[in-house]
Amino acid sequence: MELITRLQQQLQTLEERSLIRRRRTVDTPCAPRITVDGRTMLAFCSNDYLGLASHPHIVAALKEGAGLYGAGSGASHLISGHSRAHALLEERLAAFVGVNLESARALYFCTGYMANLAVLTGLAVGDRDTEIFSEALNHASLIDGTRLARVTTRVYPHADLDALAALLAASRAATKIVVTDSVFSMDGDMAPLPELLALCEQHGAWLVVDDAHGFGALGDNGRGALEHFGLHSPNLVYVGTLGKSAGVGGAFVCAHDAVIETLIQKARPYIFTTAAPPAMAHALLASLDIIAGDEGRQRRAHLQALVAQWNAGLQLRHWQPLASTTAIQPVIIGENAAMMDIAACLYQQGLWVGAIRPPTVPVGTARLRVTLSAGHTVQEVEQLINAVNHLERTRHELE
Ligand SMILES: *Cc1c(COP(=O)(O)O)cnc(C)c1O
Repeated sequence: MELITRLQQQLQTLEERSLIRRRRTVDTPCAPRITVDGRTMLAFCSNDYLGLASHPHIVAALKEGAGLYGAGSGASHLISGHSRAHALLEERLAAFVGVNLESARALYFCTGYMANLAVLTGLAVGDRDTEIFSEALNHASLIDGTRLARVTTRVYPHADLDALAALLAASRAATKIVVTDSVFSMDGDMAPLPELLALCEQHGAWLVVDDAHGFGALGDNGRGALEHFGLHSPNLVYVGTLGKSAGVGGAFVCAHDAVIETLIQKARPYIFTTAAPPAMAHALLASLDIIAGDEGRQRRAHLQALVAQWNAGLQLRHWQPLASTTAIQPVIIGENAAMMDIAACLYQQGLWVGAIRPPTVPVGTARLRVTLSAGHTVQEVEQLINAVNHLERTRHELE
């Protein structure tokens, strides 16, 4: 069949460029030590930054939630799928993160991808008086959100406040929306949120912050990037995801009541999808207890110690680690084939590290994306440091 042949040719091209992606099958719960295709591995690639994905209290709460509410929600939130568990979770999230906002409410979503589509389309769709200002390294879900919003979108260079200020000053739009990741998912650095917020307040713009990698991990209480920087503003629209540090799944938007009500009324990614299983929301209540309590604080402190250990221990002359104080610690290799080869060498030694290629990152910047977790021990991080240092030395001696 000609249609199938065309697809096969496209896949062949990906293969030739070292761009084909393969999934590995994990047989055990998400944790540092896992079984992958029957083999025990030490993993440094999940976004389970606090090590909560297989926490016994959260697993027990998920089971309890299934007993209380059943397996599925049965319908979208606006029909009959909005359960008590969802409502309780939203109240808790609003009280937790909303201290940094004004008249805050929270809205729970099935995924962060959908939350981002909902915020950008809900606030902007089809409106000629709206402009979006989007940071160059934003996550794919924010990029897709701007596309679906169908309003004028201007992309400003990474962390370039002057460029953004000029764009905002030149804009005549009645509604201006600046949107950024808080922690950049493939680089690990943080957006200059205090300066961005000051600019937004000066120009009467919304600041949409995607805190997928900050919620739970940043701030003394785990409230995320806003707490980390001590930011308070009615201009903020906060998106937190709950499948990373929170260890379960889904996401939420926390913002002024008028924003949340607008999303409920208008955002298609919220309206036209089945509500997540209520048991997930119930499990997330247990996760929030841990994040906000002493155990969360201890886990964040341990994670920060591992980040410091990693940065102090790496001794690389050819590969380039990116400056990052977060759990995301990328090492730039450059070419796809070399990076895949290096990732495969580590894998053979029982170390599973994320291998990130274009189009996720710019061409020529293929990288190892090491993610650290409070679930790791000092010895485990030491093992990876030694393996990476040693591998670089042996590869470059061969050249
Ligand atoms: C993971 C991620 C998302 C998507 O969240 P999901 O809940 O996985 O759909 C959104 N934004 C950023 C920056 C992310 O890293």
